Amino acid sequence: MASITIERVAKSFGEVRALAEVDLTVADGEFLALLGPSGCGKTTLLRIVAGLESQTTGRVLIGARDVSALPPRKRGLAMVFQNYAVFPHLTVYENVAFGLRMARADKARIAAQVEKAAALLHIEALLRRHPAQLSGGQRQRVAVARALAVEPAVLLMDEPLSNLDALLRLEMRAELKAVLSEAGTTTIYVTHDQTEAMGLADRIAVMQAGRIEQIGSPSEIYDRPATRFVGGFVGSPPMNFLELPVQDGKVDLGGLALAAPPGAGARVLLGLRGEDIALARPTEAGFAFTLKVAELLGPQVLLTGVAAGGQPLRIVLPAAGPLPPLTAGGDILLKPDPARLRWMNEAGKALEGSP
Ligand code: ATP
Repeated sequence: MASITIERVAKSFGEVRALAEVDLTVADGEFLALLGPSGCGKTTLLRIVAGLESQTTGRVLIGARDVSALPPRKRGLAMVFQNYAVFPHLTVYENVAFGLRMARADKARIAAQVEKAAALLHIEALLRRHPAQLSGGQRQRVAVARALAVEPAVLLMDEPLSNLDALLRLEMRAELKAVLSEAGTTTIYVTHDQTEAMGLADRIAVMQAGRIEQIGSPSEIYDRPATRFVGGFVGSPPMNFLELPVQDGKVDLGGLALAAPPGAGARVLLGLRGEDIALARPTEAGFAFTLKVAELLGPQVLLTGVAAGGQPLRIVLPAAGPLPPLTAGGDILLKPDPARLRWMNEAGKALEGSP
């Protein structure tokens, strides 16, 4: 069993507390993305699992084995780190074959595995070159191929696609997902790119300031963010948050009365995804939105404006559907999808009973 268990792992660098006590279990064969803004502790957590950094307190298990005190090479995992360079004195072929050679695999197996990994990463034509003769993105692909060639039970990756252009990144993302799920590899993947995390992962752990804010499937994270931070970090555009006073168990969303959720205090935050807001017909109940800017984003139109007493709001409408006059300063009547209201308290924590 190649599950990964992180138990109450904390890390301080002198005065800097990089990780508070983190608890996290990655199931055998699961793909977990660690997602969060720069400096939130993602890389530190991954380096602790790898054994490249020691934790201040807590422990790490791979399967049932406590690996906390073991050096990286004894932990039985493969890794691709941003700064984990490929060996400059070896050819690309030798780099990709390296782990298999170390494991004393026979020549035929090495050749077959190198060929497979090279094809997957589109580096077949580069096998005889040395790393100095490669671009940054090509070198990064060699590092990924080297890790995949050994068919590891556990794979740790830190932004492994960061040096690739957008198209190649998209392609590699899909191929990585397919190959890792087929092989049943337990993977932790660090990224600050929410699209990448949403697309690749079985579950996402969203981190902020050395803590895990929420762990869940991509749709749980997207549809039911546990905090304002998660709603604002995941999704493009981010989730809207409107601050509303509660009176007689109701809030007034600029002309539209909504029942406040149980447990609401004097003020609540209403989280609304831009695509969960639609145009209201003149005969329907709706709230007023004043348009500032309209942008065409291919299949959708992004409208930026204000609602509920001048608070910023972004909505996304299908470009092919009926659209209001897109004049700056114009008022538009909107209605939220009642099943998709995400209520939070003033501190930005989801209230019980919110969908
Ligand atoms: P990024 O996406 O920018 O790589 P990250 O989420 O991976 O960020 P970490 O690299 O884990 O963040 O850093 C977490 C915190 O620990 C940051 O405040 C960082 O400055 C600090 N830190 C990391 N490594 C060290 C170190 N060797 N010495 C001192 N502080 C460090």
